[in-house]
Amino acid sequence: MKFSYWENKTWLSNIDFVVVGSGIVGLNCALELRAKQPKSKIVILEKGLIPHGASTRNAGFACFGSLTEILNDFDSHSPLEVYELIQKRVSGLKRLRNLLGDKQIKYRQFGGNEIFLQHDTEKLHNSLAKIDDVNKLLEPLFKEKVFVIKKNKFNFQKTLENTIFNKFEGQIDTGEMMDALLNKAYRSNIRIINNVSLESYEDIGSCVNVCTNQFALSCNKLFIATNGFSDLIINEKVAPARAQVLITKPIKNLKVIGTFHFQEGYYYFRNIDDRILLGGGRNLDFQAEKTNEFGVTETIQSKLDELLKDVILPNTKFEVDQRWSGIMGVGNKKTTVTKQLSENVNCGVRLGGMGIAIGTSVGKDLANLI
Ligand SMILES: Cc1cc2nc3c(=O)[nH]c(=O)nc-3n(C[C@H](O)[C@H](O)[C@H](O)COP(=O)(O)OP(=O)(O)OC[C@H]3O[C@@H](n4cnc5c(N)ncnc54)[C@H](O)[C@@H]3O)c2cc1C
Repeated sequence: MKFSYWENKTWLSNIDFVVVGSGIVGLNCALELRAKQPKSKIVILEKGLIPHGASTRNAGFACFGSLTEILNDFDSHSPLEVYELIQKRVSGLKRLRNLLGDKQIKYRQFGGNEIFLQHDTEKLHNSLAKIDDVNKLLEPLFKEKVFVIKKNKFNFQKTLENTIFNKFEGQIDTGEMMDALLNKAYRSNIRIINNVSLESYEDIGSCVNVCTNQFALSCNKLFIATNGFSDLIINEKVAPARAQVLITKPIKNLKVIGTFHFQEGYYYFRNIDDRILLGGGRNLDFQAEKTNEFGVTETIQSKLDELLKDVILPNTKFEVDQRWSGIMGVGNKKTTVTKQLSENVNCGVRLGGMGIAIGTSVGKDLANLI
C-alpha cells in the first residue's frame, strides 16, 4: 500500500512503541506506556475491525476461582503458587475497578455459586472436606471466610441441594469495560490501527522492523499482547484454547441472579440484561478446541442446550438468541508469560480464563518491562 506524506508522517513513522493487540492487556499496556512517557508516539495494531480476541467475547465474571477450580490447581501448583495466583486476581480486579469505575463497567457483586450435578456427590464431599483449608489459605487476603455452604435456592434441577457460595465474586458488562478502555486510549492520544495483522518482526538492536499484512513500519519497542494467537508469531509456551458460549433472549421474571460455576469451572453461567449467558464444555473435546479459529460446534452447543433445559431453566420458557466463541491463551501452568523476548521486544500473554481479573495488571507489567 502506498501512503501519502501525511499518512506516513502522522501515523506510521517515528513510532516509539507499537503494541500488538487491543484486548485488555494491549490497551492497559499502551495506557501505562503513556503514563510513563507522556510525549511518546504509541500505536496499537489490531487485526480485528474491533478488538477480536477474548476481551470482547468473554462471560464477564469478575472472579478469582471457584472452590473446585482452586483445589484442582493444587495438582499442578504449590500452595504458595496457588495463593499468589489468587492474590494477583484479587489485586488485578481492584486495579480494573479503580481504573474504570464500577458504574462504567456495571460491576455488580451478586456473589458466586458453585453448583454440583447429582452424580457429583463425591466431588462435593471431597470439596467440603477441604473448604476450611482453602478458607484459611485465603484469610490474609479477605480477612473472613470466602467459601460457605448454602442451600440451592434457584430451583436448579438434577443438582445437589448444597452449593458453595462466595460473596466476594462479581460480574461486569464486558462490552462496557472494553468500550471504556478504548475511550481512555483514544483520549490518551494512543492511535489504534484496525484491520492490520502483525505477520513477523525483526529486532535489529537499534529498532524493531515490523511486517504486517498491509504495510511495514519500524518502532523503538514492540509489545506483543496477542494472547491466544501468540503461537502464530512468537515461540512461547502458550496454546490457543477456544471457549464457546450462548446467550438466551430476555426471560421474564428471571430469578437466576449471580455468577455460577460447575465442574471445576469448565461450565459457567450468569444473568445479564434479563438473559442467561452460559459457556463451557471445552473439556468435551480438548483437541478440537485447541485452535485459534473462531467457531461453534454441535458437540459443545448441544451440551450447553441440554444443561440450560434440564438443569438451569427446567421450568422456564426460553429461546437461545446468539452463540459465539472466543480464543484464550493457556499453558501447563496458570501463570502468565510476561517477559522480554529480545532487546526491544516484550510479551504479556497466556491469561487463561482469568483475563478480566489479571488483564489490567498484566498490561501494566508488560509496559514496565522497559
Ligand atoms: C468465552 C470466553 C469466556 C471468558 N470468560 C471470562 C470471565 O468470565 N472472566 C475472566 O476473567 N476471563 C474470562 N475469559 C478470559 C479473558 O477473556 C481473557 O483472558 C482476556 O480477555 C485476555 O485478554 P488479552 O488482551 O490478553 O487477549 P485478547 O483479548 O484475546 O486480545 C488479543 C488481541 O490481539 C489481536 N491480535 C491477535 N493476533 C494479532 C496479530 N497478529 N496482529 C494484530 N492483532 C492481533 C486480537 O484480535 C485481539 O484483539 C473468557 C474467555 C473466553 C474466550
